[in-house]
Amino acid sequence: MTVGRFAPSPSGRMHLGNLFTALLAWLSVRSQNGKLLLRIEDLDPDRSKQEFIDALRDDLMWLGLTWDEEMPLQSTRSERYAEAFARLPTYPCYCTRNELHDASAPHASDGRTIYAGTCRDLTDEERKAKTRTPAWRVRVPDQEIMFTDGVFGEQRENLAKECGDFIVRRSDGVYAYQLAVVCDDADGGVTEVVRGCDLLDSTPRQIWLYRTLGLPVPKFYHVPLLIAPDGKRLSKREKSLDLAHLRRKYRPEELVGRLAYLARLTEDASPVSAAELVDGFSWERIGRTPVVIRVIE
Ligand code: GLU
Repeated sequence: MTVGRFAPSPSGRMHLGNLFTALLAWLSVRSQNGKLLLRIEDLDPDRSKQEFIDALRDDLMWLGLTWDEEMPLQSTRSERYAEAFARLPTYPCYCTRNELHDASAPHASDGRTIYAGTCRDLTDEERKAKTRTPAWRVRVPDQEIMFTDGVFGEQRENLAKECGDFIVRRSDGVYAYQLAVVCDDADGGVTEVVRGCDLLDSTPRQIWLYRTLGLPVPKFYHVPLLIAPDGKRLSKREKSLDLAHLRRKYRPEELVGRLAYLARLTEDASPVSAAELVDGFSWERIGRTPVVIRVIE
């Protein structure tokens, strides 16, 4: 059975972009008679707020995007993450933000930085001499990770050359998203991951973690980003596109109708319920190019 999930972060009110992803995750699962899990990703205690957790559930219900089970909050799962962490080839990294910036080589194509490996081979004595609380990185192999995304097609990344050793536990003790999401999706029996294509470049790291931890790798579908007519990515700060505002302006069917049209699932933006879209849903219809928001005004 297909098991999908929607995994929003409660760091703000849901936004049109989250909604677009939620609708596609929901349609994909419902069109396969699968099970949809909701996981609220409150991993970062500094950014997560109870009012946003409550609003997330309420906004999804308002839109008719029902879920079958809710997964435990990430804030309750640190023991599980610790257990996975203990099985990884990790080492402490004492670099400050400035040191990282100075030592790292920029990634050729997208400006991301690649960790230079400064703390990779410190001796025990060198480690003892450090006074900072370390973050923890995993030692990645010089190996290409390949996968086929359900929207973006074949993807390849050599972790050592294009990413570098990455953080799995922050210096404040919080486990990194990359590790948490792998444990959570595996424990939930998730078979397909639908999320924004801003996370496409995280996927090779996660696939490597799945394999290293001996967990089954789900299928991935990364959905295009929503952009403003001037080509800029829509900002979370753009209040007119958050659900508090949109709910005052539209009925659920009006909003779903516009999103379905943007996703190229319908011929026009007329009102429709999420349930009415299930039969006509196909990943084949979802394009790769960013979706320009013109109809939501
Ligand atoms: N929590 C992430 C977000 O809201 C999504 C993570 C995921 O789907 O893997 O952007």
